[in-house]
Amino acid sequence: RSGFISIIGRPNVGKSTLLNRFVGQKISIMSDKPQTTRNRIQGVLTQDDAQFIFIDTPGIHKPKHKLGDFMVKTAENTMNEVDAVMFMVNAEEGYGRGDQFILERLQRVEGPVFLVLNKIDKIHPDKLLELIELYKDKLDFTEIVPISALEGNNTAHLLETLKGYL
Ligand code: GDP
Ligand code: MG
Repeated sequence: RSGFISIIGRPNVGKSTLLNRFVGQKISIMSDKPQTTRNRIQGVLTQDDAQFIFIDTPGIHKPKHKLGDFMVKTAENTMNEVDAVMFMVNAEEGYGRGDQFILERLQRVEGPVFLVLNKIDKIHPDKLLELIELYKDKLDFTEIVPISALEGNNTAHLLETLKGYL
């Protein structure tokens, strides 16, 4: 099995941390290059029975200028071309306006959309359950997976679940 997975989310939610865990530091450094191309491969993870190609989706943030509108459109197209989209949020911060903007774009995605609630090492389990309930009302997510990218909690499970959609 082999497939493309797009990782989106506001800055600082932990996207790079997760990628580093999955594919290793070296490859993820590529993500610091200027955003010139439409789809940037951020890393490839090859296992015995599966290959995960993680790609960035530049421009999914609220546009501040005309060019920004174009970039958002491009990002929307990208999300329809991949095998799965991972929408990562910071569970510690909860739901915010930046997340809402991305969610509106995700409504139009036809393929699988994962909600990845990161930084669960920093929150009380009750708060996590509340957040899951809140997000369930916003979108019919294919999967909802709480993780700690930093400590590695549940990240192997996330990978295993993703594999099912490649
Ligand atoms: P990105 O902007 O989405 O790529 O976010 P980064 O991966 O750069 O992470 C932003 C900050 O959050 C860094 O200081 C990370 O160490 C921290 N971080 C990422 N994942 C976790 C997590 O699961 N738990 C905690 N406590 N911190 C995290
Ligand atoms: Mg990053």
